[in-house]
Amino acid sequence: MGRFDGLPIREELKSFEPYGAPQLDVPILLNVNENPYPPSEETVADIAASVAEAARGLNRYPDREFLHLRADLAAYLGRESGGRLIAEQVWAANGSNEVMLHILQAFGGPGRTALSFAPTYSMYPEYARDTNTAWVTGRRAEDFTLDQSKALAAISRHRPSVVLLASPNNPTGTALPIQVVEALAARTAAIGAVLVVDEAYAEFRRTGTPSAVTLLPSYPNLAVARTMSKAFALAGGRLGYLAASKQLVDALRIVRLPYHLSAVTQAVARAALRHSDELLGRVEQLRVERDETVDWLRSLGLRAVDSDANFVLFGTFADRHAVWQSLLDDGVLIRETGPDGWLRVSIGTGAEMAAFRASLERVLKTDI
Ligand code: PMP
Repeated sequence: MGRFDGLPIREELKSFEPYGAPQLDVPILLNVNENPYPPSEETVADIAASVAEAARGLNRYPDREFLHLRADLAAYLGRESGGRLIAEQVWAANGSNEVMLHILQAFGGPGRTALSFAPTYSMYPEYARDTNTAWVTGRRAEDFTLDQSKALAAISRHRPSVVLLASPNNPTGTALPIQVVEALAARTAAIGAVLVVDEAYAEFRRTGTPSAVTLLPSYPNLAVARTMSKAFALAGGRLGYLAASKQLVDALRIVRLPYHLSAVTQAVARAALRHSDELLGRVEQLRVERDETVDWLRSLGLRAVDSDANFVLFGTFADRHAVWQSLLDDGVLIRETGPDGWLRVSIGTGAEMAAFRASLERVLKTDI
């Protein structure tokens, strides 16, 4: 008996499991790149008051265009990235996953191709699958950077309608030089394709790495995706967004479901944006902890990839699953992802990282 017997499920979905890292009830959660610091009671109270205000109008559908939230996001992004944006250049949805699905719904589809460069975020092929878009990957270099001429050649060869580029990349943490992003923006513009630069982890980037937001005035085919789930410490709020030209955003407005962003979500996101200084207040500390984690892993003789994000890819292990399991036995949940032999650890609080280090030291002494 197949799982879906009697149901007309699409052939290409039959073999899939729902996407997602294990959600386990263990003390140290370092597996999905969240910010480990919860909001202060003051921020909690302001969010709760905003939700109460929204609740008084819940008999009505929410503001379908949510221009107040889009204006707040435009102001934040302008401050963070040094660009100038208007509300109509910003789009938002329930997580940046949904924002990028909107891109594929608008610009992908049967007979079209989406291109990315592996190893990269494993949801991208799912957006392609779900929109009947062909999925093609080029390769990143051995050190997980992108070879510009090979990337340009891949675009010319496959003629995608959408190119997805994560910077900083998940699971490697690698940020792309702005010159490489610009070369790809120019080539995709020349063939009439959309370039998505997924900057989910941008706030963690090392200083001196400009955001692709700075390229928006020159490239109407460019979309820069962001999220409040990572540095912004609001993963539970489910708010992702992008900045692009007004024309590109207008195309996304065609495919969104009506009222896709609930009044509660809008209220929570706007309240959180009012407290951005606090919510982002630990980013510098997390950056320092990240760099120390890279150094510490290397001091053990392991490989660790330089990271511009809030996680570190490290290895390599002959049996990475055994290492992952041994850490879990100590109550430390990390992520088994990336190329064979590698593991990824999210940066937690100082105490959580101490627990991770103690556990990994113990595991390395045993015979794995
Ligand atoms: N892009 C990248 C590179 C990610 O790692 C993630 C989350 N793991 C997302 C997008 C999606 O995040 P969200 O839907 O929570 O905004």
